Amino acid sequence: MDNYIYMDNSATTPVKEEVLKEMLPYFTKNYGNPSSIYSLGNQSKNAVEIAREKIAKALNAKPNEIFFTAGGSEADNWALKGVAYANRNKGNHIITSKIEHHGILHTCEYLEKQGFQVTYLDVDEYGVVNLKQLEDAITDKTILISIMFANNEIGTIQPIKEIGRIAKEKGIYFHTDAVQAIGHIRIDVNELNIDLLSLAAHKFYGPKGVGALYIRQGVKIDTLISGGAQERNRRAGTENVPGIVGMGKAIELAYENLEEKNARLISLRDRLIKKIFDNIDHVRLNGHPTNRLPGNVNVCFEFIEGESLLLSLDMEGIAASSGSACTSGSLEPSHVLLAIGLPHEVAHGSLRLSLGEFNTEEEVDYVVEKLTEIVTRLRAMSPLYENIKEVK
Ligand SMILES: *Cc1c(COP(=O)(O)O)cnc(C)c1O
Repeated sequence: MDNYIYMDNSATTPVKEEVLKEMLPYFTKNYGNPSSIYSLGNQSKNAVEIAREKIAKALNAKPNEIFFTAGGSEADNWALKGVAYANRNKGNHIITSKIEHHGILHTCEYLEKQGFQVTYLDVDEYGVVNLKQLEDAITDKTILISIMFANNEIGTIQPIKEIGRIAKEKGIYFHTDAVQAIGHIRIDVNELNIDLLSLAAHKFYGPKGVGALYIRQGVKIDTLISGGAQERNRRAGTENVPGIVGMGKAIELAYENLEEKNARLISLRDRLIKKIFDNIDHVRLNGHPTNRLPGNVNVCFEFIEGESLLLSLDMEGIAASSGSACTSGSLEPSHVLLAIGLPHEVAHGSLRLSLGEFNTEEEVDYVVEKLTEIVTRLRAMSPLYENIKEVK
């Protein structure tokens, strides 16, 4: 797809050429099973262990604290269900937020059916959790706090260090879904007192279907996938060797020159926001004005349906998202936008443009040009917008 403008990097990212290059031999030449004891198997095992070291290094964790999974959703499920079941004797209460990814929220709903109690913290208008409410929610039955690092829809970054401090003081495990943050923000699990952390390779230019759960040594957690002895008996199944190798390379590349890459992304992001506001009226920016992911833009256009906007953008060769990849296709507006206090009708007109390393200034300008045309055209068909104009 030449000339295609991809601004949906929070949904997934392309695999970088250098990443693919490292993966390829593990599909064909080096196809050994890491559990086999002959040398072909050993080669695969070594490749898996090298990748584990790279992931550990990026998080300031130990390699034996990294467990490979089939992506972010599995890591989220494992963290929540695993800690819940293993610590049942201690308590049955979990604290999370209203704006988590469905990998967390739907797992919490499942655990509620199993007899666990879940507190869903509110967020403020920018999508930041309330630390006072967090402290007040803690009881002697609380076994786990799970708060995402950065939100996938509105990009807001949470006060992770403060949450880690509160959890540590109370002796409660702290899990963070860092799928949107890893590779984009430097994370030190020790400095931040994180006990468990989920990540997924395809959000930082690695392959889909591979991720990891960081589990601090000593954390009591049950196994989710039973079977063979892989991952030191804690996650069965023959390793996705090419995927794991790709994830190792991708995380290494992601943290190279991160500050320069982020400065460039922030300048693209702010250019995009400014141009949208300069050209289109009745817009609001969702998420925190500054404390947000470098590539995230999320705006609501009043009197517009997000879905129509996406279809029109697609016809211009522009890929974006309304709500999150998982919520689009459903009629309910995004739970995140409702949680920050947007009325239903405004939440329906949301657009997420998530920038990545491959986007350019020219693309930003082109997108705003097309967006302005599309919004004007769609609004011309909206009786509500026509009324507003007459009042003015
Ligand atoms: C993408 C995403 C997930 C799910 O990861 P998969 O690898 O697609 O299963 C979980 N949490 C957040 C915040 C995400 O952005």
